[in-house]
Amino acid sequence: MTNPDSLKCPVCRARSRGDVTCPRCAADLEPLLGVIGRAAIARQHARVALEKGHWREARAWAETAQRLQATPLGRQLRALTRICAPDSLE
Ligand SMILES: [Zn+2]
Repeated sequence: MTNPDSLKCPVCRARSRGDVTCPRCAADLEPLLGVIGRAAIARQHARVALEKGHWREARAWAETAQRLQATPLGRQLRALTRICAPDSLE
């Protein structure tokens, strides 16, 4: 999962430590943390699918993860799955 210290409040851009409320503006960060959690789960599903050789499933999970939360490692994972399951094979 993303390091909570790298999270920023979408309202005021203050750094968050994973708390459900922004320490500066008191914005509710729980929905954001939920999305980040779902992205982490999607990346894990992508990795498991890769290990099993389920290329299209891995790509679908990696694409979903990047839509939920774009990360550098997620981009690399998506690139790998795009090599394993290119559009031309669909
Ligand atoms: Zn804030």
